[in-house]
Amino acid sequence: MAFVRDNPQLLYTIFLFVALPLAFIMTGEQFLSAAQNNQVLEEGARISSLHDALVDSVRDTIDDPSVLALHLDRVTARDNELLGLEVLKKTGPASAIIIAASPASHASEVGSQITIGSDPTEANYEYGIVQGQGKPGSTYTFTRQNGTTRIIHGVSAIAGSDGTVIGFLVSDTSMARIDMTAQQGITHAFVVLLLIILLMFILLFRHARIVDYTVLYRKLAEVDKLKDDFISMAAHELRTPLSIIRGYASMLVESKSLAESDHHQAELIDRSAVQLNALVEDLLNVMRIEQGRMEFALQPVDLSVATQEVVDMLAISAREKGLALTLEKTEAVVAQLDVDRIRQILINIVGNAVKYTPAGAVTVKVFSDKATKRAVVRVSDTGIGISAEEQKNLFGKFYRVKSDETKQIRGTGLGLWITKQLVLNMKGTISVESIKGKGTDIEVSFPLTVSA
Ligand code: ADP
Repeated sequence: MAFVRDNPQLLYTIFLFVALPLAFIMTGEQFLSAAQNNQVLEEGARISSLHDALVDSVRDTIDDPSVLALHLDRVTARDNELLGLEVLKKTGPASAIIIAASPASHASEVGSQITIGSDPTEANYEYGIVQGQGKPGSTYTFTRQNGTTRIIHGVSAIAGSDGTVIGFLVSDTSMARIDMTAQQGITHAFVVLLLIILLMFILLFRHARIVDYTVLYRKLAEVDKLKDDFISMAAHELRTPLSIIRGYASMLVESKSLAESDHHQAELIDRSAVQLNALVEDLLNVMRIEQGRMEFALQPVDLSVATQEVVDMLAISAREKGLALTLEKTEAVVAQLDVDRIRQILINIVGNAVKYTPAGAVTVKVFSDKATKRAVVRVSDTGIGISAEEQKNLFGKFYRVKSDETKQIRGTGLGLWITKQLVLNMKGTISVESIKGKGTDIEVSFPLTVSA
């Protein structure tokens, strides 16, 4: 109950749950009663025709009971629905005698006297109606219920040669076959109704689950926002003290008055502060991208020039590791890019190549692919490589390959995720080809701007 109160949208489902079966039952009932009335009318018309066809010959043989019985027998044998067919001969204004009855099971009734009722509460009242109001030749039908089946009782007056009523032709017709067909239809409809109710139960259950998920989703979204706010706030707050630490650390590193051991420690502080700063910047970038706050000022940028700058920047680290870092470029390769973002992308990719290559070379190629009309930067290294399995998760957030070779190398696992998002935002593509232990090729490409 409390769940429904907290989630009023469930009320609509519950309302439908009750209203739909009710509507189904009500329309079903209406159809059924219309159909039943129609059946009685049709059957009544059939009985009238039967009486019309019989009444003349019955009048002619009313004084010859054996011929009459034979005649009735023949008619009854032909009609499966006919339960009884009798001829009554009037013996007085309020009495009559059964002179012929069919089928044979009714033969015992022959000769019995009946009293014609004078008001509706009395037995055989119908004969009174027929002889009082009815013009001879008309058939009157009365429907009565016998257990579950309906019986149509048909009565027509037999007029003598002077026009007075001399007797009655009476028939009992069973509606059992028609009622059984209707009953089968009703059973069918109830099975369908049960299925509908079952289906609605499943729907109600599912709806409740969906409402559950919606509540959960809302809570998750709130928690997610809290997390984002926290990371944003923490990263922003860390920026200022970090830049102060970095400033003092680099002053100490450059100081001439420090002893050799102190100098080494100052360098450690400086390096750690740089790493911490990179983490803070990565986190802030993730937040900006996820919240759609990262702005891209696109303009024609020569990728050869941008790559040259990045290669020059990373040349010192490559040299320190004894790596050959070379750039192969032939011409101006221009694409619509944001200068800062493309620099960030190239620093990440070329930086990773240097970082994860213990010995050998890092080769950067910039070229335009005329066939696909794309500006391409391909960074190839002879480093530790990435297995096919690891490549599947490479661009995932916080993903880092865990191996003996990477254990000593620091990183956040955010670089390639950020890189991919930046590339995609500038209509670019990024792909990786690598063989574990041999080296890695990372390629980024952007739509080429062709000069007129
Ligand atoms: P990290 O901060 O760990 O470098 P990245 O997102 O830049 O994070 O890279 C994710 C992981 O991909 C790295 O931890 C590393 O294992 C692997 N990786 C990236 N570039 C290379 C490369 N050129 N050679 C081998 N492994 C690489």
